[in-house]
Amino acid sequence: MTGQAMRVVSGIQPTGGLHLGNLLGAILRWVRMQDEAECLFFLADLHALTVEVDPTQLKANVREMAAALIASGIDPAKSTLFAQSAVPAHPELAWLLQCTARMGWLNRMTQFKEKSGKSREGASVGLFTYPVLQAADVLVYNATHVPVEEDQKQHIELARDIALKFNNDFDVELFVAPEPYISGGTAARVMSLRDGSVKMSKSDPSDMSRINLTDSDEAIVQKVRKARTDPEPLPDDPALLTARPEAKNLVGIMAAISGESEAAVLARFAGQGFGAFKPALADAVVALLAPLRLRLVELRRDEAQIDAFLAAGAERAATLAAPVLAGAYRAVGLRA
Ligand code: ADP
Repeated sequence: MTGQAMRVVSGIQPTGGLHLGNLLGAILRWVRMQDEAECLFFLADLHALTVEVDPTQLKANVREMAAALIASGIDPAKSTLFAQSAVPAHPELAWLLQCTARMGWLNRMTQFKEKSGKSREGASVGLFTYPVLQAADVLVYNATHVPVEEDQKQHIELARDIALKFNNDFDVELFVAPEPYISGGTAARVMSLRDGSVKMSKSDPSDMSRINLTDSDEAIVQKVRKARTDPEPLPDDPALLTARPEAKNLVGIMAAISGESEAAVLARFAGQGFGAFKPALADAVVALLAPLRLRLVELRRDEAQIDAFLAAGAERAATLAAPVLAGAYRAVGLRA
């Protein structure tokens, strides 16, 4: 980027707590980005409505996720942290953009096909148009960069297509087409501890498949000890891990935590079995998570403080969004 400050926008759904996959794959990278760019992070509570939610839980989940992010190092003084639903500019702009996006574009989104599964006809319309709200989430702030994982690349492309078509249709220079942002360190894809071929996820029915931010030290040690592995010792060459997904996953977790390459981890453990590797890995995970968990426990004691952080963040976000939203209304002829 030349001449323009970098502004990063990203969101996370406030469903369930954080797990090691979220932390290593997304949140701890966000934490590092705070020193590289102006950052806005939001709890995507409107996106959460695209599938069934428990209305009695939603507000509490937003607060809990905000506390988890702050405990993990998102600093409300450095970054703008807020709930999406507290900034109506998101859904307002999303409506205008739904009239720019084409059916054909959304029909090509692979995530809808995955998420709706066999019940395409029974899926909510919101689940189908979700990528347009996502486009609004970033375009409303003129985000220059959006941190992306592999499965979200298509959605950034869509946001870029919408931005360019809107600018073109209405002959304005309003929206910035955001670039994917791959920084803040390597994005680790953390796999289930029970099956190296599926990602660690909060929706996995087995709690033993994931390490949660709220797990005790003992639970972490036990989950690592019971993690599925193979009987071979660790190799000295990362290429030899390709056919051993569970071993690769554990080595990858160690590398992501220590900031080393897989090769550097293997240089330390080559020739040793999991009996030696797992205790070292458990120590590393505990050392990473225990301080965050303690901060989370502390933060949860003061809900009013969390709400105050979110309110201040929402106010700042709304101020940043207002001129872009007004520009969009003007462009389509609804405001002078
Ligand atoms: P989940 O899959 O547990 O439902 P989300 O879809 O809410 O998690 O993801 C929140 C963020 O965490 C996203 O940026 C996503 O890419 C990242 N993430 C989720 N699971 C993993 C994982 N196993 N490894 C790496 N990143 C992950």
